[in-house]
Amino acid sequence: MKKENEEIRICTSHQDELRTPLVWTFAFNGAEYWCPYCGKNEGMMGAGERVKSTAILRNRLKRFKKLSKDFLDAKCSQVCNSMMWEGKRITPDQLPQEEKDKRQKAIDDWKYEQKPLSLIIKP
Ligand SMILES: [Zn+2]
Repeated sequence: MKKENEEIRICTSHQDELRTPLVWTFAFNGAEYWCPYCGKNEGMMGAGERVKSTAILRNRLKRFKKLSKDFLDAKCSQVCNSMMWEGKRITPDQLPQEEKDKRQKAIDDWKYEQKPLSLIIKP
């Protein structure tokens, strides 16, 4: 597949400041897209604006996914019905308290409007 012809969805709230690709996630009930820069959630129908995918946007998406992994994993574990934990299927409330605390910390530690150097180059 030719990447030059692909489209990518970006957040419509701050295109002049930082064009930010939306992340596909199940971490938020009823909204499959999340903006890692401003926190906007949108459902899969009509989320963001579709623009031509560029190497910079793809790289930015990759960087944001990496940065937000612990945050999104923690959010997912709060909204899911069940999860695998040490080989057993459990509900989120059955997680050990220490693990719950660790996940809550990952959520609390997440900062919006992060601008790591690798993200600020405008396409
Ligand atoms: Zn945004």
